[in-house]
Amino acid sequence: MSIKVAKPTAQEVKSNPREFAIYTLLDKNKDSTFETQALQDAAKQYGSKSSTVKEGNLKYSQFVDLLVKAGEPCEGKGDCLSWAAQDDSGHLAPWKLTRRQPGPEDIFLQVVYCGVCHSDLHQLKNEWGNTTFPVVPGHEIAGIVCDMGKNVTGWKLGDKVGVGCFIDACRNCHACEIKDDNYCPGCVLTYNSKDKEGNPTYGGYSTHLIVDHRYCLRIPDNLQFDSVAPLLCAGITTYSPLMHYEMNKPGFKLGVVGLGGLGHMAVKFGKAMGLEVTVISTSDHKKQEALEVLKADHFLISKNEKEMQAHAKSLNGIIDTVSAVHEMVPLLGLLDLNGKIVCVGVPPEPMSIPAFPLLASRLSIGGSMIGGIRETQEMLDFCGKHNVVCKCEIIPMQYINTALERLVKNDVKYRFVIDVQNSCLL
Ligand code: NAP
Ligand code: ZN
Ligand code: ZN
Repeated sequence: MSIKVAKPTAQEVKSNPREFAIYTLLDKNKDSTFETQALQDAAKQYGSKSSTVKEGNLKYSQFVDLLVKAGEPCEGKGDCLSWAAQDDSGHLAPWKLTRRQPGPEDIFLQVVYCGVCHSDLHQLKNEWGNTTFPVVPGHEIAGIVCDMGKNVTGWKLGDKVGVGCFIDACRNCHACEIKDDNYCPGCVLTYNSKDKEGNPTYGGYSTHLIVDHRYCLRIPDNLQFDSVAPLLCAGITTYSPLMHYEMNKPGFKLGVVGLGGLGHMAVKFGKAMGLEVTVISTSDHKKQEALEVLKADHFLISKNEKEMQAHAKSLNGIIDTVSAVHEMVPLLGLLDLNGKIVCVGVPPEPMSIPAFPLLASRLSIGGSMIGGIRETQEMLDFCGKHNVVCKCEIIPMQYINTALERLVKNDVKYRFVIDVQNSCLL
């Protein structure tokens, strides 16, 4: 049995963006017709009323009524409910803030899912020493377009949209010119940064964002939406060095150190590109899954000297995703002549690297930070083509503080993703 719901007007979308995002995702055939049971389940999951869905046609306002939920009382003032930390305890709690009105170049997006990156944790705890509180983290954002400025073309209401680690750049410098805008000195980060007007930026642990359309990414429709959000940081941060350092040729022997959010994406990209992938991990907890599900070719435990030595000089390149200070020398020993190691993890303290192993095999050390907007779109299209998504654990917003504790303990396979629609209520 199915129910036809009237299509909303632009004004109705604007007034109830949360319900429009749910409507869009439920409307799988794009004909505004919903299975009665699916609508009943959605009302139970997202709404607060225990109303029974009856057969027949519904006005859009009746659909909204089924799904609307009353807000919870919280600190702050404004139109956007977020989850913020007020100090470096990093504890997140509901907090209201005001977003700017969409300008002529802007897209208003309702956040549906937001990934939990280890960088969120570093910044919540001020481990890099640069956090301005209150901070609203979140730079792995998957949402739905609910409004846009008059100069925005090519987007329409209901489109799936992604936002990653930055939402603006100077658009004039050398880095911007060559489309490496992630390296622009004027890059505006999605949170813990200042926009061009000098206002603080707040991330995706929130109901909605207003972002210039140039920094919005298109999400391939075939990808499972709840598993897409982490591509916007974990995905691009591992895809970009594979491309830039030319580690993307079939047969290349790639090592991935740390099988967390970033690391498991590096394995997935490596396999999709035809590489021979070796995971280097701290324990055997993830071994079976790495080999059987992620299809890594080899799995080494970094503390097992014998195993590491048996694989000496077995790799052409390494992506190091580790978030804490760790030994580099055993990793360098895995690299063959002319090998390279690219650091993408950001341990809070410097690490020591002796010169001798570098020169003995003519090794190079590099770094890489997220990726430009053009390359991020290229990565998303690659994911669409190869059906690459993140393996994640979906959590309600209310679980976030526990999730962060588990992330510290390395207890997640491989990314927490917040179901914002279901938990950020206004
Ligand atoms: P994550 O999910 O916590 O994964 C990090 C992995 O590192 C863990 O799963 C663990 O893997 C390993 N690890 C943790 N502690 C370790 C230790 N003491 N010694 C050795 N290995 C250890 O974190 P993530 O979100 O992937 O982020 C990883 C790092 O990249 C963070 O520092 C983050 O800030 C940074 N990052 C950088 C960029 C960039 O633009 N370059 C972008 C995003 C994130 P095993 O269980 O396999 O040992
Ligand atoms: Zn990140
Ligand atoms: Zn620039």
